[in-house]
Amino acid sequence: MKIGIIPIVAKEVDGDVLNAIEGYIGRFYSNFGFEVEIISETSVEDLLFVYNSVRGQFLGRFFLIKIAEIRGIEGISVALGITDADLYEEGMNFIFGLANPYLRSAIISLARLRPEFYGEENKGLLKNRAIKEAMHELGHVFGLEHCPNPRCVMHFSNSIIDTDYKGNTYCETCLEKLKRSLGWKDDRN
Ligand SMILES: [Zn+2]
Ligand SMILES: [Zn+2]
Repeated sequence: MKIGIIPIVAKEVDGDVLNAIEGYIGRFYSNFGFEVEIISETSVEDLLFVYNSVRGQFLGRFFLIKIAEIRGIEGISVALGITDADLYEEGMNFIFGLANPYLRSAIISLARLRPEFYGEENKGLLKNRAIKEAMHELGHVFGLEHCPNPRCVMHFSNSIIDTDYKGNTYCETCLEKLKRSLGWKDDRN
């Protein structure tokens, strides 16, 4: 089983961020029998029809359709898109990411995870935030819902403050649900 990471590029999706996500997700999800691989990048060009020039943002759900299409072509179990484009959904000013368990696809946007977006500078912080959002959206793909525990990676991020407050992984309750939905291969046995 494979989780494919697909860069969906507007200007640039940072290679070191992709590698950090691949490493972290790879280590965690290997417990469930998944391999993680970065798939060749694609451009946002095919998605310009969902670009809202007034907002300067793309409608997120169409990214999931594109990602699901690539998932089918590549023959991988789950696909996670990483884009530098800023995304929104109806009724939301912006979204950090989006997932659909039926499409077995997820997307995260780096646009509002960048410290520069908030007038700050810290290269490591972007990687850490991206790992959290990747874990969060993959959790949704595997059937997890939002968690009331503000330290759990499945806690909903209303703003970057929530993302920075939460940890990199699932709380005990969410982990139990994940184990039930995926089947846990505990390599300590
Ligand atoms: Zn969520
Ligand atoms: Zn939780």
